[in-house]
Amino acid sequence: MTKNQWIDAHCHLADLRLQSQVAEIIGRATEAGIDFMMQGGVGPEDWQRQIELARLYPGKLGLCFGLHPYWVADHNEQTCEEALDALAPLLPQALGLGETGLDFRPHLVKDSRERQLGIFEAQLELAEASQKPVVLHIVQAHEEALRVLDVWGVPQAKGFVHSFNGSWRKAQDFLSRGLYLSVGGPVVWPQNEKLHQVIFEMPLEFLLIETDSPDQPPPRLKQSLNEPASLWDVAAKIADIRKMEASMVLGQTSHNFKRLFRL
Ligand SMILES: [Zn+2]
Repeated sequence: MTKNQWIDAHCHLADLRLQSQVAEIIGRATEAGIDFMMQGGVGPEDWQRQIELARLYPGKLGLCFGLHPYWVADHNEQTCEEALDALAPLLPQALGLGETGLDFRPHLVKDSRERQLGIFEAQLELAEASQKPVVLHIVQAHEEALRVLDVWGVPQAKGFVHSFNGSWRKAQDFLSRGLYLSVGGPVVWPQNEKLHQVIFEMPLEFLLIETDSPDQPPPRLKQSLNEPASLWDVAAKIADIRKMEASMVLGQTSHNFKRLFRL
């Protein structure tokens, strides 16, 4: 990591949609002072592409391997079990384990509810065994996720909820369990008062910021693919709510990231 060492806590540079533009995207991020980009793992093919990219851009990417709830929803029990077996030996080179969690949006969940729960539990166990923080993806499954976390235990190395976009009450459910909250593009939307309140109330020591590139572009980018340089949009909105400079938000959240991942 170089000068500013500002960090995008969650993005997907290994996403196939970005494949032909990664060099330019990392160039623009570096120019904007964002020198380190933590990845969100999706499934085995994505892990291999992350490893490849980390080789091409040394020091820029934080590797993160896990089975995303989407991926689990799309694959059968046996394929998921095989992927779990492949995950364990890769973890020593990763900063964190994830994405893992639950996504119970009806169009996505199909027959995968039980499988998502089982694979989430197995990954919490793996995180504990490997002493890695977890990167959680939890959508329309707040109560179920809390139940799993309470039965299986939040890993000792903790972790964060990526793209948190809920109420202050839900935020407290995670904060009280020692988890950090990572906030991205949705905070920039002027109507998102619920999330603005979370930013206003929460202790800044537990805040991370992310772009989730190539998804969740802030309004300025319309429907185009998102990229880590847009982390400034997120920082500027939070700075506005907390009455501070955007660079201070970037500094504080990057510091928090390094604390959580022991960098
Ligand atoms: Zn993601």
